Amino acid sequence: MAESRSSPGKRVRVMLPLRLGPYDYAVPEALDLAAGDFVRVPLGPRTETGVVWDEPPDPAFEPSRLKPVRGKLDAPAMRAPLRGFVDWVARYTLSPPGTVLRMAMSVPAALEPPKPKRAVALAAGAPDPELDEPGVLTPARRRVLREAMAGARPPGELARAAGVGAAVVKGLVDKGWLEPIDLPADFGAPPSRAPVLADLNPDQRAAADALLEKCGAGFSTTLLDGVTGSGKTEVYFEAVAATLAAGKQALVLLPEIAMSAQWLARFEERFGAPPVAWHSELPGHLRARVWRQIAEGRARTVVGARSALFLPFRDLGLVVVDEEHEQAFKQEDGTIYHARDMAVVRARFEAVPVVLASATPSLETLANVERGRYGRVELPARHGGATLPRVAAIDLRKTPPPRGRFLSPPLRAALADALEAGEQAMLFLNRRGYAPLTLCRACGHRLQCPRCTAWLVEHRLHGRLQCHHCGYAAPLPRQCPSCTAEDSFVACGPGVERVAEEAQALFPDAKIAVMTSDTVAGPAAAAEFVRAMAAREIDILVGTQIVAKGHHFPLLTLVGIVDADIGLAGGDLRAGERSWQLLHQVAGRAGRAERPGRVLLQTHMPEHPVMKALVAGDRARFLAAEREDRRKRNWPPFGRLAALVLSGEDEALVDRIAKRLGATAPRGAGVEVLGPAPAAMAILRGRHRRRLLVKATREVDLQGVLRDWLAQTQIPSAVRLAVDIDPYSFL
Ligand code: ADP
Ligand code: ZN
Repeated sequence: MAESRSSPGKRVRVMLPLRLGPYDYAVPEALDLAAGDFVRVPLGPRTETGVVWDEPPDPAFEPSRLKPVRGKLDAPAMRAPLRGFVDWVARYTLSPPGTVLRMAMSVPAALEPPKPKRAVALAAGAPDPELDEPGVLTPARRRVLREAMAGARPPGELARAAGVGAAVVKGLVDKGWLEPIDLPADFGAPPSRAPVLADLNPDQRAAADALLEKCGAGFSTTLLDGVTGSGKTEVYFEAVAATLAAGKQALVLLPEIAMSAQWLARFEERFGAPPVAWHSELPGHLRARVWRQIAEGRARTVVGARSALFLPFRDLGLVVVDEEHEQAFKQEDGTIYHARDMAVVRARFEAVPVVLASATPSLETLANVERGRYGRVELPARHGGATLPRVAAIDLRKTPPPRGRFLSPPLRAALADALEAGEQAMLFLNRRGYAPLTLCRACGHRLQCPRCTAWLVEHRLHGRLQCHHCGYAAPLPRQCPSCTAEDSFVACGPGVERVAEEAQALFPDAKIAVMTSDTVAGPAAAAEFVRAMAAREIDILVGTQIVAKGHHFPLLTLVGIVDADIGLAGGDLRAGERSWQLLHQVAGRAGRAERPGRVLLQTHMPEHPVMKALVAGDRARFLAAEREDRRKRNWPPFGRLAALVLSGEDEALVDRIAKRLGATAPRGAGVEVLGPAPAAMAILRGRHRRRLLVKATREVDLQGVLRDWLAQTQIPSAVRLAVDIDPYSFL
């Protein structure tokens, strides 16, 4: 893409990070602008920051009405591949390009010239805050020093963390116990030493060589398809090492960056420097610096969740999407996109290879391999001779748990054996809280969220009821709101807390921990769980899908799946695929070292293809059947889907607009529109919802059809229309 230089007196088109625009502006004589430059421009009474865009301005626009660009920011220009990517994502998702641009300039402060950030650090001569010498430290000073041990920080932040006033921190600086420093200028700096060479086994060597061949050779997409524990991470680290050695940047997308403590530690061990972790918990001042250093090419390896896709890499050389099948890569609000698919697009614009890694690749990716669009590299066996765990089903119809309990006799016996042998066990149930439903024993009334079509979930650890969709929380009422009976509520069904309670009652001496997004708030908490597990401070870990994610626990030999059927309920077209992926990943946690692993699935339908595939370890057969089923029904990846969700507080209005869209729906070769119908989640956060589903064959220009259709109906501002291309959620 040529950078079109503007000559004085000319005009430019500027994209703003807003729903509106782009707009044309006059370029003042003294200013020399090129596409990608960040500029300040007037918009109504305000001044906004935007980017000089590639499209030519409208030559017919009345010059006297054209406002001038106010100035150019001293920041690295947005490069052509990123601008192209922004436009492409906007067209694909039917979003205003400005809202996509907003994701690519999410840190406005980063566009300001960087100021050195003053911080304070623990000085060498400071007293040990844990030492209990009377008279040396006041409690406030002790707290500050304790906090300072965790690392250098701006003085204000340190004072806040220690819960003291600024004067206490200043006092410690004056005493010489804290010293002022500049915060490190570089994040993800080039490593201090050469990467440790991995001693790859022959399969891994072959896989790594295949990836290395792609590095530096332009755009390509490769599926790294290997069973759990086969060393996929080791293998793609080779490609990262080669990319860094070539002086380029690497981007690794992980589904849940907060859960990635082990990954980060492994990276640092291998490369001698931590990568830049891009996530929502990054404090503001660090965000701006990191963003800028990525734009300047100084931050070299970036690991992040979805949003890292929109970072301004200066010299990207490789993209990796780990656990590519994960639904967490689907961004469900704002601009709705799938980060795995968009990673491939970004790599194409940057002309670099992208590696998709998984032990349970998505049908979408497998279909692309079949079509020859993606390459495939395989790792068929676990590293170091570890065997894949034995999987057996427990038929709950034949050996049910005792009434009101959830662990069946065979699972109880297996837990007892594992504990006896000094090994660790994991109980998996993909349900947070104590019980998914609470009802009144007297009248049958069910406690429901006042704002959503959803039951309230009891969380005993926090002593309250919660809606998992909108965050509503309330204490358990003493009186039934329907029949006024007192203390009449009973918990129905299991959540992880209830399973932990049952396990504790069975094994009073066992150390039991619950790992869910409620108990693991961030990277530090996740790291603590992993450490406690590795140090054998936990005998039985009870958890939700959070435990399925890439952790490596050498002493874990037993995995019990409390309810293997949960994910199969409901009409989601990917229910089978997703259940299989999740359960297979959970099963993969067992027996990753010398001791063999064992997995027990509690199910009411051992004859279901998902259960049979898990027990037989027959992935190929399951995928072939699933694929045939999708092909017959023309579901993705063989046909295309788009969902339209209309929502608003005024139900009648939402309904009317939905019907109007339904009436003008496109009909014709290869296109079918289902609905409108109330969404499964008919009310969410107090907004009424109607859905339409567009099914099309792969030959249809789905976006074009949608654009023409939606242009015919004016949507009032009280109704929101969300367009979800390739939907994964059908709620
Ligand atoms: P995957 O990502 O396929 O699940 P990992 O890369 O996490 O597999 O590897 C599983 C475990 O085996 C890790 O603890 C890793 O350090 C170890 N491992 C894999 N390959 C090797 C190797 N070549 N040498 C030593 N350890 C290895
Ligand atoms: Zn709710």
